[in-house]
Amino acid sequence: MVGLEEYRAIVGDEVIEELRLLSEKLSGTVVQNINSTAVGGGVAEILHRMVPLLKELGIDARWNVMKGGERFFEVTKKFHNALHGAAVDLSEKDFSTFLETTQQNLQEISLSDDIIFVHDPQPVAMIKGRKRSKARWIWRCHIDLSAPDGRVWSFIRSFVAQYDASVFTAPSFARVLPIRRYLIAPSIDPLSEKNKELSESAIELVLRKYDINQEKPIVAQISRFDRLKDPLGVIEAYRLVKRRIDCQLVLAGGGAADDPEGEKVLREVEGEAESDRDIHVLPLPSGSDLEINALQRAAAVVVQKSIKEGFGLTVSEALWKGKPVVASAVGGMPLQINHGNTGLLSHSVEGAAYHIRKLLRDKEFAERLGRNGREHVRQNFLLTRHLKDYLLLFLLAGHHQENLYL
Ligand code: UDP
Repeated sequence: MVGLEEYRAIVGDEVIEELRLLSEKLSGTVVQNINSTAVGGGVAEILHRMVPLLKELGIDARWNVMKGGERFFEVTKKFHNALHGAAVDLSEKDFSTFLETTQQNLQEISLSDDIIFVHDPQPVAMIKGRKRSKARWIWRCHIDLSAPDGRVWSFIRSFVAQYDASVFTAPSFARVLPIRRYLIAPSIDPLSEKNKELSESAIELVLRKYDINQEKPIVAQISRFDRLKDPLGVIEAYRLVKRRIDCQLVLAGGGAADDPEGEKVLREVEGEAESDRDIHVLPLPSGSDLEINALQRAAAVVVQKSIKEGFGLTVSEALWKGKPVVASAVGGMPLQINHGNTGLLSHSVEGAAYHIRKLLRDKEFAERLGRNGREHVRQNFLLTRHLKDYLLLFLLAGHHQENLYL
């Protein structure tokens, strides 16, 4: 497992010393993370690296994944879509399923005493167990709450309001709440299997594995097969590009354990791609980090054409690899992409196609965006910056509790 010292060469001495200094004050503190999936999606991706590094810094970081049946995850997926503003059909039974599953998890997960750090809406009602421990409770929202469905948000909000503090990714996501709100952007790990440097031969091996032509420029979107990631929109944009420039499209991604819709969307995408041998739809099993790394590195342009997006870790991943990125101007993607400087933002299928064409034609421009993008990620979206923000957050949380840490 990669240790903190190995980040020194990438982020500099000062960053590492700062982390050590801050963590001294938190030594031994239990930080219990609770989320709803161990694999798939950005939250699990971050926890897999954050937890070991917090431990290395002397914090007793733990991670519980809440358990739920198919019904529960159907409901939470509906909540997820509704919180992103989609119209969904919800019954009273859906709300009671949500609460019953929470209750079962409260019986199974023992709650620690220092800090309980709950991620996203699925486990939000775990706060019902508040009286069982002396912990400070923090809710970390990773999704875009700028225009939520009123009914679902008011239900979720009734739990959020019982926390001590909340954390959002971007100012526009932060709803009005009676508790403290902090802004913390997510991050990627530059040394993980998914982001580490790869040799040309390692990249070629992956392209051969998936029968991808190494001569033709690749446009790639790496995402779970989720409607909100708009894979069909990516195919439309690719078709517009293809009229003028010969290229291929890679749509690669798996599912997340807490997303029951993935299979259906994958089948739709496969149906749409069937007639074109230059569209590679690659369902990836979890743990395909090396493959994702290679596909991102092999791409001439990386696309993230989401209709709604929390942060869009895939954008940081691509920028870190020096890739020109075309992302829709939603969610946290404008935090990563300063249009014309660190990438290009699109607002429609036609806009995405126009930008992809430009990047395929103008190599110098594409390289400049990639270089700037990598620096932007180095400054703002690496794991070490995220760790520092979390340490400060934990220190602040403790500060409200009498003499606990400071
Ligand atoms: N990812 C993955 N396998 C897949 C699809 C995505 O490992 O099949 C990773 C992707 O590389 C990124 C994360 O999952 O690190 C997705 O995070 P993002 O913020 O882009 O979207 P989310 O899935 O959380 O909505």
